[in-house]
This record gives sequence, C-alpha cells and structure tokens, in this order.
Amino acid sequence: MEFREEAERATAAFGMPLAAPQAEQLAAYYELLTDWNRKMNLTAITEPREVAVKHVADSLSAFDAAIFTEGVRVIDVGTGAGFPGLVLKIYFPSMDLVLLDALQKRVKFLEAVVAALGLSGVSCLHGRAEETARQKKWRERFDLAIARAVARLDVLAEYTLPFVRVGGAALALKGARYAEEMAEAEQTAKILGGGKPTAKPIKLPGLDDGRAVVRIDKERPTPAAYPRKAGTPEKKPLGQPGK
Ligand code: SAM
Repeated sequence: MEFREEAERATAAFGMPLAAPQAEQLAAYYELLTDWNRKMNLTAITEPREVAVKHVADSLSAFDAAIFTEGVRVIDVGTGAGFPGLVLKIYFPSMDLVLLDALQKRVKFLEAVVAALGLSGVSCLHGRAEETARQKKWRERFDLAIARAVARLDVLAEYTLPFVRVGGAALALKGARYAEEMAEAEQTAKILGGGKPTAKPIKLPGLDDGRAVVRIDKERPTPAAYPRKAGTPEKKPLGQPGK
C-alpha cells in the first residue's frame, strides 16, 4: 500500500483522521524524508506502514485540543527529521512552531520540507537546547515544549522547561519505561519550576508497547542557573546528584 493510504488508515484508526490537504502534505513529506534519507541519516524507519504508525500517529499522540489552541506557540526540542513537530503542524496548521535541533544537516532538511510544503509559521533553528533556552528571545516564550526520543525525562526536563512560560507545559513522548522515568524526574521538574509529571497512556494502531505522553506543567519561573552548560544535564542529571 502507498504511504498516503497507510497514513490515512493509521490516523483514522488512531481517531485523528486526516483531511485531504493534510494527507497530501504528509505524502510529500514522506517522499522528501525517504529521498534525503538515502544521503543522510534521518530515520531508521522507512516502510510506509511503519512510518504511518510510528512517526505519524505517534507524533499526533501529543495533540490535545485543550492545550493546542489557535496560535499556540510550540517548540519541538531535538526534532531530528521533524517528529513530532512537523506532523503536528500539518495536522493543526494554526500553531506557531519552532523546530530545534543540534545537527545542522537535519535543520537543512527541515527547511527544505517547510519550503516544499508551503508551511507558514514554522522556524527551523540550529542549536543546542541548553544554549538556546538561555537566550532572551526563546526563554519562557512558549506555551508548549515537546520532545520525542531525545533524552531520559529528567535530562529532557532541563532541555524543555526553560522554554515554557509559567502556565504552559512540557510534553514528552515516552516508551514503556515512562513510569520509572517520571519518578526519576520528579525532583528535577520541581527544581526547574515544574509540577509533578503526569502521564496519558497511548495505544498506537497495531502496537501494544505501553507508551505515554508525559506532561510537566510549568508552575514557577525556571531559576536563572538552568539549563546548565551544554552537556551537563546529560552528564549530571539534577535528580541524581550522586551520578
Ligand atoms: N525527535 C526526533 C524523533 O523522534 O524522531 C529525533 C530523535 S533523535 C534520536 C534525537 C535528536 O535530538 C537528534 O536529531 C539530535 O541532534 C537532537 N538533540 C540531542 N540533544 C540535543 C540538544 N541538547 N539540543 C538540541 N538537539 C538535541
């Protein structure tokens, strides 16, 4: 089956059916992804059905109509080839999106996709979360910071929460060990101005691997000392001081 049909089938089965223009944009995105992936490492998953479920439906699992409101400002931290940010943008065009990644060549790919699809309200940014979140232009400027497959939750909290305004939230798409990661991140979230992590369990069509979207609400401003310098959150996670 062609990718477009697989994407339509997977998103409908997931309860988030696509309108025709969205399916067309996703199909164009898939073409660029598989084409560029021959020259650079963008994704290990390329089969139409797998991309439809594990990239497209999984990215959409972060969507929640209560928080994705008109004009919502979202940053996708460590977006790689655009997951989950670009898929969410295609699904919900009225969001204002920043795609951030530390690898320049991935940012070039993202710029090519944004241009080819004619998307507006998307900025592709090259940089590390730890450095970008210290810049006034980006710090505490977003309603939502989202991330998938970038780091364990306690590290990810330090990458994402500094971008979020008080009253907003960080969302992390997580695999089977999410409960363990949530417990480990509780202290870190508190230090960074976040509340207690909560989870929305996710069941993707045809998969039963126990994933979840973990949410940390931003309750207080992040102290100026965070995020620490590039590499430190990963080497010395805040919740594990002995590490
Ligand atoms: N989010 C995408 C996905 O789910 O397919 C990409 C996941 S990939 C495994 C991790 C990405 O995070 C890479 O593209 C990497 O360059 C980026 N990354 C890792 N640490 C980062 C940091 N501190 N700041 C910005 N990007 C980072």
